[in-house]
Amino acid sequence: MDSQDFLITQARLWEGSGERLPERPSPLRVRDGRIVAIGPAAGEGGGTPREIALPGRVLVPGLIDAHVHLELDPGLRTPAEQLAVPEAERLAGMAARAEAMLHAGITTARDCGGGGHREHALRARIDAGLARGPRLLCCGQPLTTPGGHCSFWGGEAGSRAEIEAVVSRQVEAGSDWIKLVATGGVYTPGSRARDAQFDLASMRVAVEAAARAGRSVAAHCHGTGGLGLAVQAGVRTLEHASFAGADGFGTALDADLMAEMARRELWVSPTVNAGWGRRIEDERGEPTDFFRRMAGCLRRQRDHGIRFIASTDAGIPGVAHADLVDGLLAFARYADLRPVDVLRAATSEAARALRIDDETGRLSPGLSADLLVLAGNPLEDLAVLRDPEVVVFRGQWLDRAARGALAVGGAGR
Ligand SMILES: [Zn+2]
Repeated sequence: MDSQDFLITQARLWEGSGERLPERPSPLRVRDGRIVAIGPAAGEGGGTPREIALPGRVLVPGLIDAHVHLELDPGLRTPAEQLAVPEAERLAGMAARAEAMLHAGITTARDCGGGGHREHALRARIDAGLARGPRLLCCGQPLTTPGGHCSFWGGEAGSRAEIEAVVSRQVEAGSDWIKLVATGGVYTPGSRARDAQFDLASMRVAVEAAARAGRSVAAHCHGTGGLGLAVQAGVRTLEHASFAGADGFGTALDADLMAEMARRELWVSPTVNAGWGRRIEDERGEPTDFFRRMAGCLRRQRDHGIRFIASTDAGIPGVAHADLVDGLLAFARYADLRPVDVLRAATSEAARALRIDDETGRLSPGLSADLLVLAGNPLEDLAVLRDPEVVVFRGQWLDRAARGALAVGGAGR
């Protein structure tokens, strides 16, 4: 079915923020890829929309994953293995991963870094209707110190001039965001996650260079020291925010810093993913040490009123791009959040943080028609988000049959 003009009736709508699902169904009209009206009069106002009755169904906004890496194959273990993938295979893999994400109900994703701006080219193909995938926001090459975390992607900078040059290069490549690697990471050999990279002055240079180009900064932060510097430098989203110290992740919590994070206009993107979901309990059914530390870390942040957005770091080993919902279920467990809070973090709140709330993240007239048709109420059980009956993206109607058909041979196009 094309996206010209249709009216969904008899379904109940969760628009992206409300505490509960309304009792009554509400018609929703889509024309030319956008939601044009919601409510009893939605079918009026010119034209003859095709009516699609969905009794008993629930509509929610399409999901947003605020941190993925399309370039990374989650089946590979190391950066060296990733870099060794032949180019044609890499591009085909990226296209297949993007398609799988859309089919899983992810209608928007922020790509938090790659080495060759390939995700920007894929974004152009998706926007032109030549490839299937979510709306993409791209960071490009992460800005890092010489030899630092993610330096294998080419965004190394030592001096002020080099920092500005790396930022300019990402902007010229069409990046929507700038990714700043404020601490070491787990994935890069020789890097230590708890150590800060860059001093405060350098981070400020990066944030200011990004701001001059109208871009916000997403800062990768594990260690508490680097996290604090990124907050002071004025970044908009804090990726991971692991509060890592000498004894590992979640072992250097800092109440003053959390209070400062809550005071500022920023969001934590904690990358709680399907991999975390596999680390909740040990073989005896006891909470793991990792779960205890990270649950404590996230719950303290929550109690400080820090705003969260949903994210997975998809592409790292064992974290598939289509598995956002498993990440959301894990997020609810770790942070002890209600389904509605998790769902906001994956829709309206993520859109706000990513500065695209005038385009997506809610069911509201004027926004892109990005929505999911579900068999049940996700505010009662997030698991109903798995395998939506229909994914609608920019008005394009993708039911299960259409997604199955598209998946065959569609990935490499
Ligand atoms: Zn990442």
